[in-house]
Amino acid sequence: MAFQSLTLLGSTGSIGRQTLDVLRHLKGRIRLAGISAGGRDLELLAQQVVEFQPEMVHIGDESRLGELRARVMTHWSGPMFAGAEGLARIAAEAPADVVLIATVGWAGLPPAMAAIEAGRAIALANKEALVCGGTLLTGAARTRNVPILPVDSEHSAIFQCLHSSPRNEIRKLILTCSGGPFLNSTKEQIDVADADVTLRHPRWKMGNKVTIDSATLMNKGFEVIEAHHLFGIPYDNIEVVIHPQSVVHSLVEFVDGSVLAQLGPTDMRLPIQYALTYPERFPSQIEALNLGKMGSLTFDDPDHGRFPALSLAYAAGRAGGTAPCVLNAANEVAVQLHMEGRIACGAIPRILRGVMEQHRHEQAPSLEKLQTWDRWGRDAAANIAAAL
Ligand code: MG
Repeated sequence: MAFQSLTLLGSTGSIGRQTLDVLRHLKGRIRLAGISAGGRDLELLAQQVVEFQPEMVHIGDESRLGELRARVMTHWSGPMFAGAEGLARIAAEAPADVVLIATVGWAGLPPAMAAIEAGRAIALANKEALVCGGTLLTGAARTRNVPILPVDSEHSAIFQCLHSSPRNEIRKLILTCSGGPFLNSTKEQIDVADADVTLRHPRWKMGNKVTIDSATLMNKGFEVIEAHHLFGIPYDNIEVVIHPQSVVHSLVEFVDGSVLAQLGPTDMRLPIQYALTYPERFPSQIEALNLGKMGSLTFDDPDHGRFPALSLAYAAGRAGGTAPCVLNAANEVAVQLHMEGRIACGAIPRILRGVMEQHRHEQAPSLEKLQTWDRWGRDAAANIAAAL
C-alpha cells in the first residue's frame, strides 16, 4: 500500500527539503498533492511549487501570500491558503494519501489532527505534535483507522524492528542518543554555553530548534514521550542509551531477551523514504554503511545530572494530561531566547523546572484546552526568563 500522493507541511525546512529530494529520487511514484511552508524562504517555496506542481499551496505568513502568487503565476495556478487556519485546511483538503508533517513545534498538532480527522494517514517528523497531544492524536487515529508513521530516525528504527510484533512480546524500547555537542562537557561548561556552541551538533545536520534540543537532551526526552504514544509502551520500559556514533538508530528488546537493532547511515532521507514507501522498500540514493571502516560502536548510560531536561521530560510524560504540552511550550520559548543570545544553555532547564512547578495539571485535555495551556506555558516561561 505504498502511498501515491503526499501533502508536505514544512517544505523549506531541513526535513521538507530532504522529503522533496526523496520524491525526486522516486521519480513520480509519489505525486505532491499539497505543499506548505512558513514563508520566510519565499523564493525556495516558489521554486518547489513550480517544480512539483501540487494541487494546493499554503503559506504560513499571510502578508506574503500575494508575493508568492505573483512569483509562481506564469507556471502554476490553483487554490492557495494562508495562516494557521489554512494549514489545517490544506492538511485536510489536499487530495493526498498521506500528510508528512515537518513543521516545528506546537504548530504541527492542529494540522496533524485535521489530517487524521479527514481520514488521511500521517507521517510524523514533528515530535512536538505527539508530545503535546499524543493521547488525542493516537485516539483519533485509532477511531479513523489511519496509521501514524514515524519519520524521526529513532522511531523509524523501532518501527522497523517491531515489524508488527504483538505488544506482549516487547520488553523494552531502547532509544539511542548521540549525546550532542556536550557529550564530554562538564556541567559548568554546559551552564554557560551560548548558541554558537549549542548549534554545533557532531552527527546530524538539522534545523536550529532540534539541534538545540539535542544539546540539552530535551530532544531525547521528547522522543521518549513520542515513543510512548506511537508504540503504546509504558515509560518504565523505554530507555535511553548514549551512542555517539549514531549508527544504531534504536533497538527493541523482546521478552525472550533477544534484542533487535536497526543500523544505517546518518541520513534522514532513509526514514523519510521508508515512511512513504512502507511496507515496501525501494532502492535509495543513500551511501551504504561501511562497517569495516567504522571502528568501534560504543554505548553508555545518560547522565541525568548534566542533562536535567531528560528527567523533566520523563516526569511530564508520566504525569500525562497537560504536563508535556506545557513543558513543550516553555521549551519553545527558552530555546528561542537561547538562539537570540539572551540566555545561556544552562538557563533552559531552570526555566522549564520553574514553569512545571507553577503548572496546575489537568488530565484528558481537549485540543482547545491544550491550546490554552500552550499559551500559558509560553507566558510563564517568558516571565521566569525575564526574572533570571
Ligand atoms: Mg530523532
